[in-house]
Amino acid sequence: MKNSNGKPPGPEELKKMLEEMFGQVGDVQITHGFSEPVEVTPEEVEPPVDEVEKLDNILEFSYLPRDIKAYLDRYIIRQTDAKKALAIAVCDHYNNARFVNEQDDDGFSKVDYHKQNILITGPTGVGKTYLVKHVADLIGVPFVKADATKFSETGYVGRDVDDLVRDLVKKADGNVELAEYGVIYIDEIDKLAGAGGSGGRDVSGRGVQTTLLKLMEDTEVSLSNPNDMQSQMSMMMSGGKKGQKDTISTKNILFIVSGAFSGIEKIVDQRQRAGQMGFAAAAQNDKEEESATKHAITEDYIKYGFEAEFIGRLPVRVNCEKLTKNDLANILRYSEGSILRQYERQFAAYGIEISFKPDAIDYIAEVAEKQNTGARALMTALESHLRDFKYEMPGIGVDELVVDQKLLENPAEKLKEYAGRGQEASREEALRELATYLKKFQEQNGVELSFSDDAIHALINKHEEEGQSLRQISRRLFKDYPYGLNLIKSKTGRNSFELTEEAILDSDKYLSDRVLEAYEDERNSEGEAGS
Ligand code: ADP
Repeated sequence: MKNSNGKPPGPEELKKMLEEMFGQVGDVQITHGFSEPVEVTPEEVEPPVDEVEKLDNILEFSYLPRDIKAYLDRYIIRQTDAKKALAIAVCDHYNNARFVNEQDDDGFSKVDYHKQNILITGPTGVGKTYLVKHVADLIGVPFVKADATKFSETGYVGRDVDDLVRDLVKKADGNVELAEYGVIYIDEIDKLAGAGGSGGRDVSGRGVQTTLLKLMEDTEVSLSNPNDMQSQMSMMMSGGKKGQKDTISTKNILFIVSGAFSGIEKIVDQRQRAGQMGFAAAAQNDKEEESATKHAITEDYIKYGFEAEFIGRLPVRVNCEKLTKNDLANILRYSEGSILRQYERQFAAYGIEISFKPDAIDYIAEVAEKQNTGARALMTALESHLRDFKYEMPGIGVDELVVDQKLLENPAEKLKEYAGRGQEASREEALRELATYLKKFQEQNGVELSFSDDAIHALINKHEEEGQSLRQISRRLFKDYPYGLNLIKSKTGRNSFELTEEAILDSDKYLSDRVLEAYEDERNSEGEAGS
């Protein structure tokens, strides 16, 4: 930061500059009323890119539910009901957030607004988080996710829940105003159910429900954590400044909670049976297996172990369906976030073009479906089938990998071929390295060194057994050779040496034998000369 003279500001000046900066943020005007909704074709809807655009986007919120659904369709396969319900709820929320900011002359809000917090049900890995994250991205609001189970363990439940709101500020790079329109997403909310639910936590669960309830309504949360000394101190240092907020309002924060709610279908079923007699009840039973969770009503959630007030604050209920094998294959094929794109990029980084045949996609979907972890299993299935290819293929001069069902079912065969080529490639690399070593040896020591074929063979064997590079092995084996070979050179005038296999197997003995030979030769020739 520099002042108008281009010099770093002094303390007083800095304070003033910061005040001005914070003042500016606080001065942003909230626009009132609805702007004309513009019909946008789905392709035109793209997330805002920078902070200014993000805030403008919210303050002039003009998305239609169908825009949001169309955007979600690009990434999320199936879950049509959930996409629609979420799109409507999100539009309601951000449209109302603008209404709520309209104030009458006495400074009271003109409209009575009941927040439309959302409850998403559905098994794991079917796109609940993915949906919420993409909605937040599109609208350009900060998004935080947490597990409800985390809150009950500290004992100071309220503190942790408030931290979520502070996390939003962090996600918004300290922009409190933007954070006030953020999305807080809490997963595993079913674990907060009391005695009625399956494996719920009762007392602490209820405590968290109460704290969450406060947040979900309209409350102010301190920007500093009361249990965090550092944040308290920085708050005190900057406190009391004009235009600087030290709390964040949760009024316009959208809360979305989700859970698998396993076991609730029994409660739903019982209620439905009790309400229907004879023929109707039997007909219900015969219905195609459909998630009964979808039909859960407030009464069922209370029976499951939720406080009536808590579940009452979640008026929008959305159900995500279990994904079939076909859905999983479609996720790979059509989702813009398909993990296949990730594989393409990873292989492309090594100059390899990977492609997937339709039968490979069906096969992965089939393997994934059996794992019962939704689309998450796609990643596990692909990783376990392709990991070895990621190791063997780079650097062996192959530029294409076509993945079909046969390859996935029997990777060993293909891998063997690549492993063979891999070995060749690393041998070539090793030999290049050896040539460099020999050249350097000659430059530094004035004697020329070379290896016989069997010596090279023995060296490569050693390299493959010990895992050290040929240069490292050679340096170790031949560390005394510069001295020894120069000694021979001085006795015999010889300056070129070809090492044999023996030199690799026992390098010290090989060298001392050669030195002795040289001395003997010298003595013999002296003897001959003397006789
Ligand atoms: P959860 O329902 O447990 O919140 P996630 O939304 O975190 O599951 O899903 C995990 C990952 O699986 C996502 O990041 C996404 O890549 C993929 N995924 C899950 N469901 C879908 C879906 N319906 N369409 C496309 N991708 C999906």
